[in-house]
Amino acid sequence: MKHNGRLPLQASTIRPDLINLRDGEKRAIVCPDCRVWRPIQDRMVTAHRAVPHSGQPRHRRSGPDRTPRCPGSGQRIWIDLTADQWHARYEKLANRYQNEGMDPGSRHATRVKRLGSTPAPVVVPRQRAAEWAAVRPAVSRTDTARQEYPKGDSPADGPEVPRRTLHPAR
Ligand SMILES: [Zn+2]
Repeated sequence: MKHNGRLPLQASTIRPDLINLRDGEKRAIVCPDCRVWRPIQDRMVTAHRAVPHSGQPRHRRSGPDRTPRCPGSGQRIWIDLTADQWHARYEKLANRYQNEGMDPGSRHATRVKRLGSTPAPVVVPRQRAAEWAAVRPAVSRTDTARQEYPKGDSPADGPEVPRRTLHPAR
């Protein structure tokens, strides 16, 4: 894959809760363009489509008018931190959030959307980690259910609805 032409981002300049360099886990970063967790492969953000705004019909994600590739695809990431160095920064930030009584999920300026299986080191104060672990299966089931569209009529604005009567030739 070709990189996107921009200068590499240094891992040390990225807020530690927006990049995951945890040992043994797949490296991932919150794409600076679309704010979604994306895997890092070969020191680049893997190619991905920009996530449509909520409310965008699902069919727009495929076909000729599919959502365009996110310009953050192929962003080079310069991994200039060891896993330990990153983790130390991450812990420090987590403690700061905790001391300030800040709920990083709702108060911080950077809102992060989550993708199903992407590792997401969202900062959660320790006492909340256990609560989160307890509800995680239910959340996961709900997320999965949300992906499914009920059988029945397609969205009315779908371009795939035929508007012309076809008369097959003999
Ligand atoms: Zn992106």
